[in-house]
Amino acid sequence: MAWDFSTEPEFEAQLEWMRGFVRDEIMPLETLDLDRDTFGRITAPLKEQVKERGLWAAHLPPELGGGGFGQVRLGLMHEILGQCRFAPGVFGNQAPDSGNAELLAIGGSPEQKERWMHPLLRGELRSCFSMTEPGAGADPTLLSTRAVRDGDDYVINGHKWFSSNASNADFLIVMAVTDPDVSAYQGSSMFIVPVETPGVQIVRDIPVMDHPTVTGKLYGGHAEVLYTDVRVPVENLVGNPGDGFRLAQQRLGPGRIHHAMRWLGQSKRAFDMLCERAVSRYTHGSVLADKQMVQDWVASSAAEMQAARLLTLHAAWTMDQVGASNARVEIAMIKYWGARVLHDVIDRAVQVHGSLGFSGDLPLEEMYRAARAARIYDGPDEVHKASVARRILRGYQPVDTPTEHVPTRAEAARRKFADYLEAATADL
Ligand SMILES: Cc1cc2nc3c(=O)[nH]c(=O)nc-3n(C[C@H](O)[C@H](O)[C@H](O)COP(=O)(O)OP(=O)(O)OC[C@H]3O[C@@H](n4cnc5c(N)ncnc54)[C@H](O)[C@@H]3O)c2cc1C
Repeated sequence: MAWDFSTEPEFEAQLEWMRGFVRDEIMPLETLDLDRDTFGRITAPLKEQVKERGLWAAHLPPELGGGGFGQVRLGLMHEILGQCRFAPGVFGNQAPDSGNAELLAIGGSPEQKERWMHPLLRGELRSCFSMTEPGAGADPTLLSTRAVRDGDDYVINGHKWFSSNASNADFLIVMAVTDPDVSAYQGSSMFIVPVETPGVQIVRDIPVMDHPTVTGKLYGGHAEVLYTDVRVPVENLVGNPGDGFRLAQQRLGPGRIHHAMRWLGQSKRAFDMLCERAVSRYTHGSVLADKQMVQDWVASSAAEMQAARLLTLHAAWTMDQVGASNARVEIAMIKYWGARVLHDVIDRAVQVHGSLGFSGDLPLEEMYRAARAARIYDGPDEVHKASVARRILRGYQPVDTPTEHVPTRAEAARRKFADYLEAATADL
């Protein structure tokens, strides 16, 4: 099947506008130390411009106020937004709110959409996706948070951590086991839990590489959360009991493509810094651009980024053609390939800048710290690699003799062409 990643000229014009807008209007905010209110006042008119261009919350279908753009075009948008950590928020596409809105769009009841999803899309509410536990991360079958039906309520007990944005959220979407007698994949469910519900305790924002001492002032950190006898009405169950993992997969598929494209935006920014420094810095008799090792970084980074871009666009295109569940291999591949490229390109950009690259005078050190997490969140690289390998290997059968064994093939070829070979010998 031919692949087609092309987009129409009108959309190209939108992308061009986005490039200028992100560079000129949003990136300068990175350099200011803003509190949330000031940031909100500055970005409010910017958000209006985004809405006027029809680019607000573009991840959702038109009936829910989105652009209905499909994954390829969304991916291309995220490549631009990924350059600056504030840009997704200005475009109504901020994680984890965007993924949670998608989740509610897929699995939420009409009342849940009205009460939680639409305000989320309008930017009036903030949310959190609370699944990982200290004892259960890459292997979700180990989840121990329980939700037990009690009359018209569910009662939730458990201990989560790395619930991003919990300390800043109005509601949490909590994954809990509702049927411990079946596999967690069939026995887990998601609940909307308003953050002020009695029994919800945001213990702390965990210090991380990204912000080691204090949490971001603008966004909540990665929180540890205790749920003790948290009572929510049955109406807060998303979908049906046992739907948790099915919904989580549908939420994470597109999210991974958008992550991968945002990583490319970050990589390209680091790459531009790498190249600018290479042609500018003079040392040991020439500019760095003349050193073969630096040329290797430039050439390798360019090729790796191009490969990541094509892999990601192909995964997006496959999703648009056949849906997320039929694009699992493609989506898993971009997770580990994209995260690795992101890390390596930023690392080379740091290196080529020497001590300046290690300093806070450039955004690289912050980008580097954030990039390290990409190999862990949304499932560690190793898990995605294992899943890709498993699916690929299903297409192979065990054999006693390798299919390509030359003596065996030669024997078969002699039999196949015996008449010709005999004739050739007879002619001698
Ligand atoms: C910045 C950040 C933000 C996050 N945000 C959220 C959030 O909003 N909500 C949420 O619920 N979670 C969130 N997480 C948690 C994230 O999803 C988990 O960290 C991730 O799933 C891995 O789980 P774990 O940390 O428990 O690692 P573990 O499960 O303990 O795995 C540790 C390591 O073991 C190795 N490993 C694991 N399984 C295998 C395997 N099968 N084969 C080979 N090696 C393996 C991998 O190297 C892995 O890194 C976030 C994490 C980070 C870092």
